[in-house]
Amino acid sequence: MGSDKVICNAARVSTSTHEIPEAILNGKDKGLIRYLMRNRHGSPFEKNGMIFYIEAPIFVAREFMRHRHISVNEMSGRYVELKPEFYIPDNNRPLIEKGKVGEYTFELGEDWQYIAVNAAHQNVYSEAWKNYKGMLDRGIAREIARDVLPVGIYTAWYATLNMRAMMHFLSLRTRDERAQYPSGPQYEIELVANEMETYLAEYFTVTHEAFNDFGRVAP
Ligand SMILES: Cc1cc2nc3c(=O)[nH]c(=O)nc-3n(C[C@H](O)[C@H](O)[C@H](O)COP(=O)(O)OP(=O)(O)OC[C@H]3O[C@@H](n4cnc5c(N)ncnc54)[C@H](O)[C@@H]3O)c2cc1C
Repeated sequence: MGSDKVICNAARVSTSTHEIPEAILNGKDKGLIRYLMRNRHGSPFEKNGMIFYIEAPIFVAREFMRHRHISVNEMSGRYVELKPEFYIPDNNRPLIEKGKVGEYTFELGEDWQYIAVNAAHQNVYSEAWKNYKGMLDRGIAREIARDVLPVGIYTAWYATLNMRAMMHFLSLRTRDERAQYPSGPQYEIELVANEMETYLAEYFTVTHEAFNDFGRVAP
């Protein structure tokens, strides 16, 4: 919902120079969006929205749902039997933590470490799943049986947000050398954030460019 042009119109209503019906984006509009971003006039960037359907492990959902300006509806483990879909880090996932709290960097592991990670995840997931299903088979309610499932199991949710909230989310959940305030997000939520950012770039191109040019700070 919305566009770069709608952001300009929202800003221009204060001087009664908005254009209805909406015209095509022009050079002045680009300048205005950059001005709004640079001077942190944030509310025009709220006149729009996107809805995402996301499937990710519960530990990613927990981090995601800390963002209070994103509206969420999630599937319920009380009402549906969960599927045996579990996250196992692949061999591209950095494993080794270096540095100190707040300034961690991560490096790839050795082959034997990936094997250990894979085996540990597989063992716990299959045991947990066996116990979950065992309780359901004995007539125990889903809301109790799910207690034994680990946070690596997949959940699914719809997320609705405006572009101001999107930029705030991206500023915290991506690493980018253009960021004025670098963040250190967990790898898995960054995968989600990167995917979401492709839609910002596609549908709000000028806003996205300005976001990058002014240090990836939400206005
Ligand atoms: C790298 C990283 C590490 C983290 N580590 C931890 C951790 O160890 N423990 C932990 O608990 N959390 C942690 N978090 C989560 C973090 O504390 C925030 O909850 C999360 O990033 C959401 O940020 P936010 O509150 O700015 O966003 P939103 O909730 O989307 O809010 C957006 C903005 O709205 C305003 N706002 C929203 N609600 C209020 C309010 N009630 N009062 C005043 N202003 C408000 C603020 O300006 C806020 O920045 C971490 C986050 C990151 C990115």
